[in-house]
Amino acid sequence: MRKVKMLDLSEQYSNMRDEMLQTIDEVIGSSQFILGSHVKKLENDIAQFSNVSNGIGVGNGSDAIHIALQAAGIKEGDEVITTPFTFFATAGSIVRAGAVPVFVDIDPITFNIDPEKIEDAITNKTKAIIPVHLYGQMADMDKIAVIAQKYELAIIEDAAQAIGAEYNGKKPGEIGTAATYSFFPTKNLGAYGDGGMIVTSDDSVAEKSRVIRVHGSKPKYYHHVLGYNSRLDEIQAAILNVKFKKLPDFGKQRRERASFYSQGLKGISNFVTTPVEKEGNYHVFHQYTLRVSKRDELQQFLKENGIDSMIYYPMPLHVQPVFENLGYKKGDFPLAEKAAEEALSLPMYPELKQEDQTYVIEKIIEFYKE
Ligand SMILES: *Cc1c(COP(=O)(O)O)cnc(C)c1O
Repeated sequence: MRKVKMLDLSEQYSNMRDEMLQTIDEVIGSSQFILGSHVKKLENDIAQFSNVSNGIGVGNGSDAIHIALQAAGIKEGDEVITTPFTFFATAGSIVRAGAVPVFVDIDPITFNIDPEKIEDAITNKTKAIIPVHLYGQMADMDKIAVIAQKYELAIIEDAAQAIGAEYNGKKPGEIGTAATYSFFPTKNLGAYGDGGMIVTSDDSVAEKSRVIRVHGSKPKYYHHVLGYNSRLDEIQAAILNVKFKKLPDFGKQRRERASFYSQGLKGISNFVTTPVEKEGNYHVFHQYTLRVSKRDELQQFLKENGIDSMIYYPMPLHVQPVFENLGYKKGDFPLAEKAAEEALSLPMYPELKQEDQTYVIEKIIEFYKE
């Protein structure tokens, strides 16, 4: 039986193996493992790519959110507005920064935060908004920016899934106060371990982020703020420098694969809603996510036929047991809850073979024709 994995990094590695081993060897030979020239280069290149003036490499994408919030002045007791339909780290990082997550329901078309519902959630404690650019498509940043300006709120864009994405020609970090990236191995720009970055044109946020990632030490061994250890290491940065050159191609290849799926699934639109790219957006398809009926049965059927699929995310954050103290209940965000029951992500990566995609499409059609 054919097997189709969610993600298979083996071909990508064999295409760049020589260059990877050479750069890793060079780092080890240099004995410079932390915050050296490879991190500097990656920070500069990603900042330039993002059309912002600063990149700050950190330990992972979750720390990037936490540090960016702190650097933007978010503190104990502040409220931060975000979506309940995201990876846990978005809200987890708000709590780690001492603040309180306040959820707002999603736009059912894009799965991103619905800007029309943000204003109702604002109180005099609200200090920031974290839009999440879910699955690789940016949230409606112009509307969010208008609200943020009106209420003097910081915007920290959680762009963990959206490096390379654009909204009206703008990249993550251009409209918001800062944006944060994750280099977790499965992300569109994935390291061979953990890594993350903050990008921002706000020099004060950048400077504070740089200090927080080294225990708040500035000058060295003098501590005016409490930071912690969250640095991007040289080996990961060297690996990412190799992959970063390919990022635009990876984005194009993901987009081609997304349209191939959507084309193939057109005939069963009664059962399956394919992803919508909103006008002005450049979606980089970190995930190719359908909305389907009989989701769990379909997933089981695909599994029996050797096809991986994933549910991002099965439980919205407002009903997570760890957030019980926030006082939300089932029914508070019906659109996020519906998405959690209907979303199904299919295998997606730049090297995914057309024969495999055709097989996935055929099996999905077969399931609904039965
Ligand atoms: C992956 C991810 C993160 C966290 O990144 P890590 O590098 O795993 O810490 C945060 N937010 C979203 C939306 C993500 O997908």
